[in-house]
Amino acid sequence: AQHFLDRSHAHADLGAFVDFNHEATLAQARAADARIAAGQARPLDGVPIAHKDIFVTRDFVSTAGSRMLKGYQSPFDATVVNKLAEAGAVTLGKLNCDEFAMGSSNENSALVPSGHSSWAPVRNPWDTQRIPGGSSGGSAAAVAARLAPAATGTDTGGSIRQPASFCGITGIKPTYGRASRYGMVAFASSLDQAGPMARSAQDCAMLLSAMCGPDPDRDSTSLDVAAEDFTRSLDDSIEGLRIGVPQEFFGEGLSDDVRASVDAALKQYEALGAKLVPISLPRTELSIPVYYIIAPAEASSNLSRFDGVKFGHRAAQHGDLADMYKKTRAEAFGDEVKRRIMIGTYVLSHGYYDAYYLQAQKIRRMIADDFQNAFKSCDLIAGPVAPTVAWKLGEKSNDPVANYLADIFTLPGSLAGLPGMSIPVGFAANAADKGLPIGMQLLGNYCQEARLLNAAHRFQ
Ligand code: GLN
Repeated sequence: AQHFLDRSHAHADLGAFVDFNHEATLAQARAADARIAAGQARPLDGVPIAHKDIFVTRDFVSTAGSRMLKGYQSPFDATVVNKLAEAGAVTLGKLNCDEFAMGSSNENSALVPSGHSSWAPVRNPWDTQRIPGGSSGGSAAAVAARLAPAATGTDTGGSIRQPASFCGITGIKPTYGRASRYGMVAFASSLDQAGPMARSAQDCAMLLSAMCGPDPDRDSTSLDVAAEDFTRSLDDSIEGLRIGVPQEFFGEGLSDDVRASVDAALKQYEALGAKLVPISLPRTELSIPVYYIIAPAEASSNLSRFDGVKFGHRAAQHGDLADMYKKTRAEAFGDEVKRRIMIGTYVLSHGYYDAYYLQAQKIRRMIADDFQNAFKSCDLIAGPVAPTVAWKLGEKSNDPVANYLADIFTLPGSLAGLPGMSIPVGFAANAADKGLPIGMQLLGNYCQEARLLNAAHRFQ
């Protein structure tokens, strides 16, 4: 723990961490040491881990990347944080993220990172002029730079998979409902899911085994599926595994480097005994408008709690109550968050609900059905995580639509609630992007995390 704390401070320039509490960290580490010495080791005893600052924690601030929650101290720990601590993991600190997990580059964070005196972006350790991806950008950067052996992330529309891909690490978003959302600051409740980000599928399997499990009293959408030891089947043979390759994931807009790396990885899977099966996910393109209606709709509702009364920021100067609400929210929410609240309230409003929200819900179901149809002929689906490698800091920061379009390959699995992962498969070769990591996405049917991790592990 001390080693990783030192290393994290030495690399504060990356902007990955937003809060530390050395005393709390070292106390947890000593408790783990004591258990090990007493022969009572728990599965993750002494493993240092850092949490995306979207999980609430008692020992660290809980800000969700927002000025609204600057300095906010939660009275309780998120279930996922709790479960990892109970398994023996030692919390190193909290990691930067896009404000309320809305974003793809981590540039939407409002926070001043630890060790900085003013706002600074999270930097991709492979090229510090590039974004780490988002919204779990701090998590990906920290693991890639070895500031932490592992981190938690959350994925609503790709926020574990895309930063994992951009930073050359491994990440898995389990089936919607497998990990409890209790204590995760809500963005889009029907999509939000927690998962681990680490160096390998094996590490992810160990962490995910501790994170999952039903939580019926605290998250009514948590699945009634028992926790599982995901490490058990890691070494199983993948001889005969049918990997579906969706033609829609390999069309126009996919960069040559990403295509080449994913193709090479698919060849390697064939060499390992898997069979490639061409499949179609015909509504892939529609996942962008559908997601960017449903997610903002849910966000506009979830964020109504930030009213300056219950917790968080309150405007210092205000008139009556309505004016206090307005000033508080105008001051403390960032541009992207405001944009989504406006889109969300619009698509939910009388007269537009049927045309937008309801329509989006119907197409969401069709997207989920398309996957079920595809899974009749394959066991897993493989394709790119994102159309390109990590882009330059600032390159798309004034162009929300360009950010949204880059989510095209992660959104379908999110809308269907399927488990998905990103594994590093190569590096860009063209002169401008040379050496930047490329990830491949693996998608499985509901509760098939073990199979995903097995396929990823055999590849690695
Ligand atoms: N990039 C997507 C968005 O901005 C996904 C974010 C996420 O998964 N939290 O909403």
